[in-house]
Amino acid sequence: MKDDPIMKQNKKIALITGITGFAGSHLAELLLKEDVEVHGIQRWRSKSDNIEAIKDKIQFHEADLLDAHSLYTVIDEVKPNYIFHLAAQSYVQSSWASPSNTLEVNIIGTVHLFEAVRKSGLPLAIQIACSSEEYGKVMPDEVPISEGNPLRPLSPYAVSKLAMDYLGYQYFESYGIKIIRTRGFNHTGPRRGDVFAESTFAKQIAEIEKGKKEPVVYVGNLDAKRDYTDVRDMVRAYYLSVEKCKPGEVYNIATGKAWKIGEVLNLLLSKSLVKIAIKEDPTRMRPSDVEVLVGDSTKFRNATGWKPVIPFEKTMEDLLNYWREKV
Ligand code: NDP
Repeated sequence: MKDDPIMKQNKKIALITGITGFAGSHLAELLLKEDVEVHGIQRWRSKSDNIEAIKDKIQFHEADLLDAHSLYTVIDEVKPNYIFHLAAQSYVQSSWASPSNTLEVNIIGTVHLFEAVRKSGLPLAIQIACSSEEYGKVMPDEVPISEGNPLRPLSPYAVSKLAMDYLGYQYFESYGIKIIRTRGFNHTGPRRGDVFAESTFAKQIAEIEKGKKEPVVYVGNLDAKRDYTDVRDMVRAYYLSVEKCKPGEVYNIATGKAWKIGEVLNLLLSKSLVKIAIKEDPTRMRPSDVEVLVGDSTKFRNATGWKPVIPFEKTMEDLLNYWREKV
């Protein structure tokens, strides 16, 4: 049935930027299950560990966000119905060390993508992965945060995502390009980069269990509160966004529940097979940290019917088991 040419004509085509990354790999898996034809851009040096299991089912194209020509060539060749724009310098901490690179990849890279789409003239829909970090400094009476909250970014990364977000608005208003802006709150799960708090905790625990490390977990700020969605719920939301959301609009995607980073650590430690001590590491602290990020995703839920289904305890268990297999 799959090779039937009439069926093939109806098959949706998606192009994912950042397919080799954490969320991109989960999105690719979901789209394949939904019988979408999946294309992804990668750089010559991209590591394919995250997509190893599905790489034969994906069509890869070499392109870089910083090379406008490469993006146009891919879009013109693939002619996708949907673009999921996930590629980014995605790590807040690195944006302090390398602010210019973060702004260049996340802002100029996005302009290159939008211009390539504009030049192609294709009527496709683009989801752009904006971030809860844009809200930055949030007052206690502003929680849970809705889309209308003031944006007070507290890192170069947050500024870069804010600029990308508004570029999405502007390209929709100026040129009618169907851009859907999703402001994802933290998402995590298997394959989460080990630079992120919950993933570095899980990795350290797995290493300690294997006797590869002294029984101490090094931590940064344990007081910050975050709203964690399982990555598999998040990418389902991304897919729903291009099918059901209104172009030009912005949507929070969040569970609405806050977890202190310290609570996340305790949850992971409770699943550990050995006794482990906790030590503060000053290099893991940020110059200015966002204290609390809890999202109100009513607008998105009303538009799409989405709700998260994977409990956080299960997400943490899967993350820990991922590292147990990997280390
Ligand atoms: P990752 O860091 O895991 O993945 C980033 C991807 O971007 C990689 O595939 C990387 O490719 C690609 N990339 C980086 N620079 C370029 C470039 N110049 N040209 C082409 N590709 C490039 O990020 P996540 O999967 O965690 O996040 C996906 C998106 O969601 C990001 O935009 C992030 O900012 C956003 N987001 C994430 C949140 C989270 O909690 N995870 C929260 C809110 C938003 P390569 O393999 O070649 O390095």
